Amino acid sequence: MEDEHKENTKLLDRHLAQTTLFPLSIEVDRAEGIYIYDKSGKAYADMISGIGVSNIGHGNRNVIEAIRKQSEKHLHVMVYGEFLQEAQSDFANLLTAQLPNSLDTVYFVNSGAEAIEASLKLAKRFTGRSKIISCQGSYHGNTHGALSVSGNEKKKNAFRPLLPDVHFVSFNEPDELALIDEHTACFIMETVQGDAGVRIPSLEYLKALRQRCDETGTILIFDEIQCGFGRTGKLYAFMHWNVLPDILVSGKALGGGLPIGAVISSRKMMKQFTVNPMLGHITTFGGHPLICAAGNAALEWMLNENILSDVELKGARIKSILEKHSLVLGIRQIGLFIAIDMLNEEVVRQTVEKCLERGVIMFWFLSCPWSFRLAPPLSITMLEIERHCQTIFEVMSEVQDEQKRSVHIDP
Ligand code: PLP
Repeated sequence: MEDEHKENTKLLDRHLAQTTLFPLSIEVDRAEGIYIYDKSGKAYADMISGIGVSNIGHGNRNVIEAIRKQSEKHLHVMVYGEFLQEAQSDFANLLTAQLPNSLDTVYFVNSGAEAIEASLKLAKRFTGRSKIISCQGSYHGNTHGALSVSGNEKKKNAFRPLLPDVHFVSFNEPDELALIDEHTACFIMETVQGDAGVRIPSLEYLKALRQRCDETGTILIFDEIQCGFGRTGKLYAFMHWNVLPDILVSGKALGGGLPIGAVISSRKMMKQFTVNPMLGHITTFGGHPLICAAGNAALEWMLNENILSDVELKGARIKSILEKHSLVLGIRQIGLFIAIDMLNEEVVRQTVEKCLERGVIMFWFLSCPWSFRLAPPLSITMLEIERHCQTIFEVMSEVQDEQKRSVHIDP
């Protein structure tokens, strides 16, 4: 049976590029709620939401119905920005209605990385400056510009030269904000760092950052591609601290399970893309009507069902169960955005792999290899939390026993 599975996987993969030599290789049949089912019918609890995408769970009926309805009206009709399309404007209207007045204009693009590219261009265009400051440990995507402002040196080195005039400071370190000066176009940060292992900033830091940006005329960009759209228990994470960015970047869950990115800013700033040169950022598929309809339905569902009301409670429950295990060295949690620290990479690997065998999908972080991540759909029930945390707890005990045995055998 296992050999047959391996053969099928090889056949499926024959013409597909691979990103690693050790993909998880679940052969997906369907997905519903928090579960993904493989071809044999085995259910896997998706405790990472496909890396921050399936915030409303899989197979949401409202989203599927919205996609169906839109598909019967029209798909692509023209490159972004030329025609009036109801699906786009409905989504932009609903989204901006949830945001402060200064974030009243949305530019829809195709992915998170593209939204980062556009936000950097917008900041350069608006200020006429080139210096960019970002944070160590940050992840902003894999296109050249996004990679340039990302903090993982190991991943960047093979692709140099990257964008010039990019500088890095420690995350959440007010003393280093002095690097922001009158030559700085923008300061870009994940409001809550994801790939660095769920790093949460302090209010003091965010206030000092906002003040320094205001003093120097620097554009403040919050990348909420992963921590936004409800993940931390607020629609956008900056709402926890009420410190506003000049540009908000969104993506991942924003499309209700379909690919999207969005740059959100003031009308005044966004006008910079309209003139000198016009068409400052061109995208063929940005704001695709099918995806806007899906995103709109996802947001409507989240608001109507008041999904965000108990996200913090659910995250805190996960933390309280798992922190009791002696293999856990620490937990950082905000809403359902959780990093669990362990002794080392090997312990993380064993825990993640054994959980997968037992039908619980978890994952690691690239820039924090001694932790694993949990970020289940926000719609997860308390019962599902108890059940799957119990499995994770049991697996950690198994890993701990194996560690002890190996120390005995190989002192
Ligand atoms: N920014 C953050 C914080 C992300 O987590 C990601 C993706 O993981 C990106 C940007 C890039 O988004 P995409 O993979 O859609 O290009």
